[in-house]
Amino acid sequence: MDLQKLADTLIPDNDLLPLERYEELYPPRQLEKGAEVTRLAPSPTGFIHLGNLYSALADERAAHTTGGIFYLRIEDTDEKRKVEGAVESVIRSLRYFGVNFDEGAEIDSPLNKYGPYYQRRRASVYRAFAKDLIRRGLAYPCFCTEEELDKVREEQTANKLITGYYGEFAKCRNLTEEQIYSNLEAGKPFVIRLKSQGDTANKMTFRDRIKGDITVTENDQDVVILKSDGIPTYHFAHAIDDHFMRTTLVIRGEEWLSSLPIHIELFKVLGFSMPAYGHTCSLMKVDGGTKRKLSKRKDPELSLDYYRKEGYYPLAVVKYLMTLLNSNFEEWSRKNPSLSYTQFPFSISKMGRSGALFDIEKLNDISKNELSLLSEKEMYDFLNGWVQEFGDEKDKAHFADRNYVERILALIMGIGGKKRRKDIERAATAVRMIDYFFDDAFVPDYSYRFDKDTVNEVIAAYSEVYDPADDNQAWFAKVKQIASGAGFAAEMSEYKAHPENFKGSVADVAEILRIAVTGMPNSPDLCTIMNILGRERTLSRLAAAMIK
Ligand code: GLU
Repeated sequence: MDLQKLADTLIPDNDLLPLERYEELYPPRQLEKGAEVTRLAPSPTGFIHLGNLYSALADERAAHTTGGIFYLRIEDTDEKRKVEGAVESVIRSLRYFGVNFDEGAEIDSPLNKYGPYYQRRRASVYRAFAKDLIRRGLAYPCFCTEEELDKVREEQTANKLITGYYGEFAKCRNLTEEQIYSNLEAGKPFVIRLKSQGDTANKMTFRDRIKGDITVTENDQDVVILKSDGIPTYHFAHAIDDHFMRTTLVIRGEEWLSSLPIHIELFKVLGFSMPAYGHTCSLMKVDGGTKRKLSKRKDPELSLDYYRKEGYYPLAVVKYLMTLLNSNFEEWSRKNPSLSYTQFPFSISKMGRSGALFDIEKLNDISKNELSLLSEKEMYDFLNGWVQEFGDEKDKAHFADRNYVERILALIMGIGGKKRRKDIERAATAVRMIDYFFDDAFVPDYSYRFDKDTVNEVIAAYSEVYDPADDNQAWFAKVKQIASGAGFAAEMSEYKAHPENFKGSVADVAEILRIAVTGMPNSPDLCTIMNILGRERTLSRLAAAMIK
């Protein structure tokens, strides 16, 4: 068969360059030895979930801890999946979590020398190499229709055979020249398939940077490399792009492991050396006692929007993912509390080989801890950012008074006290936690444990002697005095010795006042709360808290 003629007929494009030109256009990168070039290669749906962030963080860390490059390539070969603004949304989502690209689609960088970074804009390079494979007898046109292929698949399934286009099932593999040209003349649509040279009887060991040594068999599937619209499949585009973008390490989901033999063969027939691979395991969770994969449908926490809406501190999410990526990260963090996670010696080979267990409680703990390290100013900025995006008008009005909010935050964070408090988990709950400082959001629960007369006597007596200038000591002395006057023990020891002589202790009196002012039986230091609330608000709360 005249293969040159066949190649020219199937791919008549006149904008293709001689193959060596592509090597010159995309030369090997000049990087230090050991520098990894990694990439994130999402389809442009814009939906990016925690699993993608997990993987992107591994890519980013692998590149940036070795002085390498992390770039963004958009795998848009499937038009149907395209969503407007998706690429920007991926970049924005990742940037929020501190994961930044050095190069790639929509990234403004002088490094962008390996583009275009959208696969649809790279048609000529794929077609040039497909044409070369046809010329070398390593690819051929296939005219099988969907129906024919379905029928073959059904037959294979019925006979318990491996499904696909291979061996005796590869009907178009041995078409004669006449058959091919008559199909073309009849205007039949065609795809280009790889003419596989492999044999599944041959096994080989493959070293995966995450999974370790794995045994794979050779590929014998005549996979499609160019679809009928001339656009490449994932397999073909992967080999061409990762070669010409000079990727050194492909980190991708373990669902691609089964296609690895195809990729090994493609790299071989194209004459490219292979990048290293690391196949990541899926994020799992325990559900009803059993482990299962996090699912888009069942688990809202898989979506990255969830973390933004709930107001998780982005650094906490990143640090949590780091603990999942490298199990020694936690200990390192404990030993190096003042260092940034970016200084951790991340290692791809320390990544888990089987499912990483996602545990939201652990994330919450990390989040509380990270937030407890902020100053009240930093906390204000973080919460205010959330309020401006997700809060309602009331929240926005509360946060308009920066000074007032900062004083509240200093109190609930224990700033200036002996020990920082770790009560704030995320913005969504923090904003509700401080509601009681604002009259328009104050919903008191006056569940006193004493009768009307006692409660009113305590509140009236305190209102009488209340002085906003009181410090803690002065305040407590007054509470003790009121306690004695109202039949409570002023000292705990007195009360413990003879509980029958008293209505209760000074602690109960303080509780009545606490409920009156804050609307709840537990709160941070009441004296400071009243100080923040100010005289007018405190007095009006005390008045309103009397039992009618
Ligand atoms: N477009 C593929 C995906 O989104 C990329 C896989 C890879 O990283 O090679 O799954």
